[in-house]
Amino acid sequence: MSHHMTFSGGLMILLMLLGAFLMFAPSARGKRLCLGLLAASLIAVALLLGFTRSVWLASAARVLFLVCAECAMYCRFCTRKRKVGGQHMGVNDRTIAQGLDYIRRNPGIRDVILSGGDPLLLADEKLDAILAALRAIPHVEIIRIGSRTPVVLPQRITMGLIRVLRKYHPLYLNTHFNHPDEITVTAAKACARLADAGIPLGNQTVLLRGVNDDPAVLTRLMQKLLATRGRTYCVYPATRGHG
Ligand code: SF4
Repeated sequence: MSHHMTFSGGLMILLMLLGAFLMFAPSARGKRLCLGLLAASLIAVALLLGFTRSVWLASAARVLFLVCAECAMYCRFCTRKRKVGGQHMGVNDRTIAQGLDYIRRNPGIRDVILSGGDPLLLADEKLDAILAALRAIPHVEIIRIGSRTPVVLPQRITMGLIRVLRKYHPLYLNTHFNHPDEITVTAAKACARLADAGIPLGNQTVLLRGVNDDPAVLTRLMQKLLATRGRTYCVYPATRGHG
């Protein structure tokens, strides 16, 4: 979340509607070129001010809150791979404080998804502080965490971390298993710890050619997920990425 959050989605929509009205209003005949340019400028300003998708969330009940710039691994299919771990990610204490402030000031927000990067790469104390701050906001009903650590760094799911997480229910966690072989004994133990702490586990899977684009593989993945008390939350196609 960045300072662009301060520009509301409602205002942007208003600017765009005004632009469209100016361009297509019946009284505009004969002045279409000038009005067209004015409308295009308004729309450009609106888009420029809202070039992060944060702005689109200004009137939404659910927000994605980026709290960590790093991941435990760097996935080939990641839609944020140009940013994660790099200088452009721009997540720091200041942006986290701004994000919390934004959520506090918008009572329509009831569902906060912690993401990054991977939120579980934060130190326990830091994560504790963020979760406590979110739980102190009366209108935040649900907190969700998206993390690949149960898959790629299951040792991160320590009892210390569990003690932090279990204080902030209702708290959900979405894992990211793509293939049944990723559900190793250690990963299954990490999921069991989370489930024992009462944290509902969802799983998102990216369809990958040659990896899991096979009904038998996906069936086995879902069966193994259920055995770890995780349910499939979504399956979605990989986005084409270069590099
Ligand atoms: S763990 Fe998630 S955010 Fe990090 S690189 Fe992989 S897909 Fe991207």
